[in-house]
Amino acid sequence: MKLHVLHCGSIRVSETVPFGDRISLRNTGRQLLAPESRRITLPVCCFLAEHPKGLILVDTGWCRAVSPAGVYDPNAVKRVLPPSLAAFYHPVLPAGMAVHEQLASMGIYPEDLSCVLLTHLDPDHTAGLRHLHGAKRVLVAEDEYYWSCRAVYKARQPWSLWMDTEMERFWYRGSPLGPNRWAFDLFGDESVQLVNVPGHTDGQAAVIFRSGGRFVLLAADSAFSNRNWEEMLTPGFGLFRARQLKSLEWIREMAADPGCAEVLCSHDPESIPRTVEF
Ligand SMILES: [Zn+2]
Repeated sequence: MKLHVLHCGSIRVSETVPFGDRISLRNTGRQLLAPESRRITLPVCCFLAEHPKGLILVDTGWCRAVSPAGVYDPNAVKRVLPPSLAAFYHPVLPAGMAVHEQLASMGIYPEDLSCVLLTHLDPDHTAGLRHLHGAKRVLVAEDEYYWSCRAVYKARQPWSLWMDTEMERFWYRGSPLGPNRWAFDLFGDESVQLVNVPGHTDGQAAVIFRSGGRFVLLAADSAFSNRNWEEMLTPGFGLFRARQLKSLEWIREMAADPGCAEVLCSHDPESIPRTVEF
C-alpha cells in the first residue's frame, strides 16, 4: 500500500501547545494570547492512501478562504473562524497546498476519492471539506458528531465548516484495539480500522492501514509528534488528560509491535511530505 503524507497548510500556535501545559481556562487564554515570539509553526497533515478498494483521504486541512493569497491573513481567517480560534491557530495555506490543489496536481479529483475519513471535527481537519464535493463517502465517528453539541466543542469545532456535508456516522464497536477497546473496521477485512483514541476529543479516531503483516498508524491529534508517546507528554488543547495518557500508552504499545512500519502524527514539526510504502 502507498500512503502519501500531504501538508495542507500550517498553524502557528503557542510554543506550549505540543507538549502540554495543564488543561485549564487560564492556560488556554495564554495560548490564545501568545505573542508572535512565543509561537511555533506546525504542519497540518492529511494522508492519502492508495488502497485496493480505492483512494482514501484522511482529514482535509485548511480551506483556501483562510489564506486567499497564500500568506497569513488575519482578516481572512476571521471570516472563517471565530475570533478565539483565529487567535489560537494563526493558520496559513500557501499557494498550491490546499487539499484539492494538491490532489489535482496528482491528477486526482474529489469524485475519484472512495472515502474521506475525518479523525475528528476540529477546524484544521475539516475546513478543506468544502473543496471535496463529489467524494463518494465522508465518514466521522458517531461519538465525535454527537458530542459536537457540547459547549466546549461548539467553541472549537465551528459547525459552518462541516454541518452541511452529508456524512456517514459510524459506531465504534468492541475490538482488541485502542485504549477503550473500541474500533470500526471500514471494509470488514482489517485493512482500514478507525480506533477510538479519546482525550483530545471524545470521539477522535486514530487510523490503522494494514497491508500484509505491516501497518501504519495515523495518531491524529492524540500525539502531535512521536515525542508525545515516547515520553508520555500530553499535547495541549486537549479535553481530558487521563484519557489522553491512556491513548498515548496504547500508541506506544502499537509502535513497539514488530509489524508497525510507522506512527504518523498530524502536527509533527519533523514531518515532511513524502510517500510511505509498506
Ligand atoms: Zn489538529
